[in-house]
Amino acid sequence: MSARILSGKLIADAIKAEVAADVADLREVHGFAPSLTVVRVGEDPASSVYVGSKVRTAEELGIVSEHIHLDADVTDEELIATVESLNERSDVDGILVQLPLPKHIDEREVLERIDPEKDVDGFHPINAGRLTQGYPALAPCTPAGVIEILNRSDIPIAGRHAVVVGRSNIVGKPMAMLFLKENATVTICHSRTKDLAAITRQADILVAAIGRPAFITGEHIGEGSTVIDVGINNFTDSSRANSMFPVDDVDKRLATIEKRGFTLVGDVNPKDAMEKAANFTPVPGGVGLLTVAMLMKNTVEAAKIRRGL
Ligand code: NDP
Repeated sequence: MSARILSGKLIADAIKAEVAADVADLREVHGFAPSLTVVRVGEDPASSVYVGSKVRTAEELGIVSEHIHLDADVTDEELIATVESLNERSDVDGILVQLPLPKHIDEREVLERIDPEKDVDGFHPINAGRLTQGYPALAPCTPAGVIEILNRSDIPIAGRHAVVVGRSNIVGKPMAMLFLKENATVTICHSRTKDLAAITRQADILVAAIGRPAFITGEHIGEGSTVIDVGINNFTDSSRANSMFPVDDVDKRLATIEKRGFTLVGDVNPKDAMEKAANFTPVPGGVGLLTVAMLMKNTVEAAKIRRGL
């Protein structure tokens, strides 16, 4: 069997087109454009790429965007003052503080200072609490994107067994809550779970959000299941390429490692997933593309809610 590839690009493009239409409608009918402000601290190269892509995508969709870049040695007080000034600005609908923050900053304190109504990343405890209680909330973009992939690929969730590996506040926990909201039966696994493979093999839908390259292998994957790979990791070991990638992908991956020094892999061994699963999200080209699209959707949602629309 060879799994159906669930293309993140097609789904992200569809969501972005819907958001652009929504923005055009808000401009025309209500006379305003939603706006997103991204705050970046320091010079983390990955953060710089992510922020660039968020700001660019916002502009493409007609969302007004602003990028505030603070020095790496900014104090907690200065960063919180920036967040609070954005809370007060009526022209700002969405605020995103790009993570990770430098070690000396109290990340939790900063995220808790964002007005929950402008918290387009969905990380504020008020939004996490609302999600847990099953009330409308701005949901974290990556797990919300996973639900979109499943719904738009006609993969049923209600009544199915969803197993989530990972319990972070950013991916694992909100993923589990969103699955509950969709009436799945949910199991959450983590680093202290015993006999992980015995549990993950029972999944109709398996989500891997672990942060370890190709950690999930054939023994973890049930025949005919849907495997959603959230992980994003650099993979550099050419000698393992044959056991990692499907035959038709090996040469391309080796060429990428040769050229860039690494290729991107998720938390799932793609060769094994292609052999055992019925549906599989690739890395790159899967869940990652949904995260930015869902951020745009949340920004428009926040703008509408704040204006009572
Ligand atoms: P965290 O490091 O915050 O969480 C990792 C989770 O995996 C923890 O709950 C941890 O368990 C669990 N874990 C670690 N080792 C094992 C193990 N051996 N067996 C079972 N569970 C284990 O990571 P994130 O949730 O932030 O991110 C996860 C992955 O998703 C990363 O690769 C990240 O890059 C990627 N990511 C991708 C995004 C996208 O847009 N596609 C967005 C966000 C993240 P414990 O709690 O017990 O330590």
